[in-house]
Amino acid sequence: MNDCAPVQGDPRRSIPRTDALLAAAEFVAAARLLGDQTVKSVINDAQAQARRAAISPDQVRASALCALAARTRNSTSLRRVFNATGVVLHTNIGRAPLSGAARDAMTLAAGYCDVEFDLATGRRARRGRGTLAALRDLLPDGTEALVVNNGAAALALVASTLAVGSGRPEIVLSRGEMVEIGDGFRIPELIESTGARIREVGTTNRAHVADYERAIGQDTGFVLKVHPSNFRVEGFTSAVEVPALVGVCRPAAIPLVVDIGSGLLRADDLLPDEPDATTTLRAGADLVTASGDKLLGGPQAGLILGKPLLVDRVRRHPLARAMRVDKTTLAALEATLLGEVTPTYRALHADSHQMRFRAQQLADAVGGRVVPSQGAVGGGGAPGLPLPGWAVALPQEYADALRQGDPAVIGRTEAGVCLLDVRCLAPEDVPIVSAAVVAVAALTAPGSATARRNNT
Ligand SMILES: *Cc1c(COP(=O)(O)O)cnc(C)c1O
Repeated sequence: MNDCAPVQGDPRRSIPRTDALLAAAEFVAAARLLGDQTVKSVINDAQAQARRAAISPDQVRASALCALAARTRNSTSLRRVFNATGVVLHTNIGRAPLSGAARDAMTLAAGYCDVEFDLATGRRARRGRGTLAALRDLLPDGTEALVVNNGAAALALVASTLAVGSGRPEIVLSRGEMVEIGDGFRIPELIESTGARIREVGTTNRAHVADYERAIGQDTGFVLKVHPSNFRVEGFTSAVEVPALVGVCRPAAIPLVVDIGSGLLRADDLLPDEPDATTTLRAGADLVTASGDKLLGGPQAGLILGKPLLVDRVRRHPLARAMRVDKTTLAALEATLLGEVTPTYRALHADSHQMRFRAQQLADAVGGRVVPSQGAVGGGGAPGLPLPGWAVALPQEYADALRQGDPAVIGRTEAGVCLLDVRCLAPEDVPIVSAAVVAVAALTAPGSATARRNNT
């Protein structure tokens, strides 16, 4: 089921030309990943199939794209996945997809590069200085930055430095912010694994300034606020927000660390309940920690942002070396910060008319029906925020075959239908996904080999 099954067809007069195909955006993108020669030979194969009338001329493009998508299997056991779930950040399929600029930067950095070397003087230079400068430029004046492996590493390193390493091992944290993120990963357990102790304040639904004031003492390393990324407590609730916590921490000379989770650097109107680094730092937080591959839309990374003196202490902790990031991560992160709008941002802010148009294109190509579809931010962000969009409804039994196909297409099964939500599909993905659906339809059609096998 790996080939996007050719359908017998037409004469060969209108086979698309190689140069025209090579110039199209999706082939340019493929060439970036696989090289010009590979792309050219795949196109030539598809043209040859059309000359033999194994496929029709208007299938050459999709057939070549389909073959290119499968090519990535040669070098890695990872399989390419098309995300038709409508969930923008999905941990199981790699969270944020990188922008073209970030992919290019990773490729450049994959070889020898000046990650820690000053070409002008021939001396050693600060690792990832361009990435750190890009972060500083996007944040309030006087903010310093450090990049580690992921959000969990950022938090563990801050706890190791500012609590355990300072001889004041207690971290004050609201009971309502004792979060389990996913796959059994619990923030309190992570923190305690460093040797720090958690001093709980408040109750599940409510915490007050006075709770924090009472909890702070001789042993307090810092006060931590964690954004409950993946759930909402509703009803009789109250949490102490950053400005009020600053009012508690400053007089006691205790650092305030805020784990904002998703890595928004600035506020986003679409996500009114998601904290962002700029607002949090302006409100007086001493350090902010965040992930690189959630709403920031970059590579897996952990950001530690804030007061230069504190960031410097964290940087000098011996564990910082154990958590440092690869040169390709630094490159991708810098490109994400400086470059084009990220695929994550585009999927979140996708225009309804354009999504509907894309869904219609897909439906027309595969004989499905366009239906409204509810997407989600996912990845532990903005729980409960509806993201209305459009999907193509297909028979439910397509779902397994699409997921197991190559490339894999992951949809959503809802009320007995397989929905392919187009929110997270780029325009150039549509012909590839169409080809995959057509292939599955051919296999599951009554009388096909698969259908016969399944019935016996
Ligand atoms: C996701 C998340 C983390 C963990 O970040 P990773 O980059 O997945 O390690 C920590 N805290 C919060 C609030 C999060 O949302």
